[in-house]
Amino acid sequence: LKSRANDYVHEVYELVKKRNPDEKEFLQAAREVFDSLRPVFSKHPEFIYNGILERITEPDRVITFRVAWEDDTGKVQVNRGFRVQFNNSLGPYKGGIRFHPTVNSSIMKFLAFEQTFKNALTGQPIGGGKGGSDFDPKGKSNREIMRFTQSFITELSKYIGADMDVPAGDIGVGKREIGYMFGQYNRLKGGYEAGVFTGKDPNHGGSLGRKEATGYGCVYFVEEMLKEKSNSFKGKTVIVSGSGNVAIYAMEKAIELGSKVLACSDSNGYIYDPNGIDVETVKQLKEFDNKRIQEYIKFHKGATYSEGCTDIWKVPCDIALPCATQNELEEKDAAILIGNGVIAVGEGANMPCTEEAVLLFQANGVLFGPAKAANAGGVAVSAMEMSQNSMRLSWTVEEVDEKLKLVMRNIYESCHNAANNFGHPGNLVVGANIAGFLKVADAMVAHGVH
Ligand code: GLU
Repeated sequence: LKSRANDYVHEVYELVKKRNPDEKEFLQAAREVFDSLRPVFSKHPEFIYNGILERITEPDRVITFRVAWEDDTGKVQVNRGFRVQFNNSLGPYKGGIRFHPTVNSSIMKFLAFEQTFKNALTGQPIGGGKGGSDFDPKGKSNREIMRFTQSFITELSKYIGADMDVPAGDIGVGKREIGYMFGQYNRLKGGYEAGVFTGKDPNHGGSLGRKEATGYGCVYFVEEMLKEKSNSFKGKTVIVSGSGNVAIYAMEKAIELGSKVLACSDSNGYIYDPNGIDVETVKQLKEFDNKRIQEYIKFHKGATYSEGCTDIWKVPCDIALPCATQNELEEKDAAILIGNGVIAVGEGANMPCTEEAVLLFQANGVLFGPAKAANAGGVAVSAMEMSQNSMRLSWTVEEVDEKLKLVMRNIYESCHNAANNFGHPGNLVVGANIAGFLKVADAMVAHGVH
């Protein structure tokens, strides 16, 4: 059975590679999941004869569209829009929309694939999807953002809906953009469909605690990993890459739990503050003033700024939380962190560590929380936003936070147990992949071949 399972995994991987020859991020994400699943197929041959792996790696559909819009000089610009509806076995497609110049079909597919398992891990009724555009919001005026976003959603509105596909934010898309999308969608449909987007402002249907959820959730997850070793955030030094929504609230919670955050970054460079990063300053700069992180040193004596964002990993720390973007932490960075005595790493961004970096952390006994599990708090609270929208009521921030903590603890336990049950104790990468996969695969078997 073991060799049949290995042959099956190998055969399907070759097929996926042949079908997606240029999609390196998607293949990277698939490879990691496939490697983890070998022990599952020896125990569950029914997944082999139901062709689950072939089916689960082929998205239900990929929608690609033109987004034409007029810039402030009156010039017509054209971008490409995407929505990957990967798998809806557990619920409506659910996942963010990313506006960033690196967006392409490989990145969209890897994110939607990962999202499918992440969403399954939350235990909530949501399928997996992701969307975005290669539009670069950097340097654009508010009106340009609005015109672009309206044009984007005018096309996408044909394919989404509260029971069909529910987008949210991601890199480059926050509550302002979600507001414009929501407004345009309702205008086109002639109604008020509160549950069609999540990440809305709480004054028009958003959930309290959504904005903080990914960062807080990541810290809750790492706290669970530390607890297992009778350890905690208390008294630790932490570095957090990025300074967007995930990074800001990861820093806030890490500080609240008694640690000191020494550094954070943006795509140009990083700041180091030996007195501990002041999150309120970062919030002011990034959430309100739209400034670069470099400005921080104007307000904090003793803080320094260095060019080059990946050098942040050279800052010695006990806990590292990569919260910027995919493949931002490579093997050489992992080696430096290990050399400096890092004890835990939690992925706040999606796939921020390369495969080699993950293996090196694990080989050196560093506690490693993979993105699918560690950053699932954001989408978990999005699912809570959908519930509140359906019930037409809102929960308090305390209620949401309690539920979020519970979700993160449950995710930790399912990953931990799956790793144990399938012969890889302590390996949360394998645990997350198996636990997420089993939920989706069982539903797919139940729904029959299609
Ligand atoms: N973009 C976030 C993620 O990567 C959140 C998605 C959502 O809330 O739907 O999980």
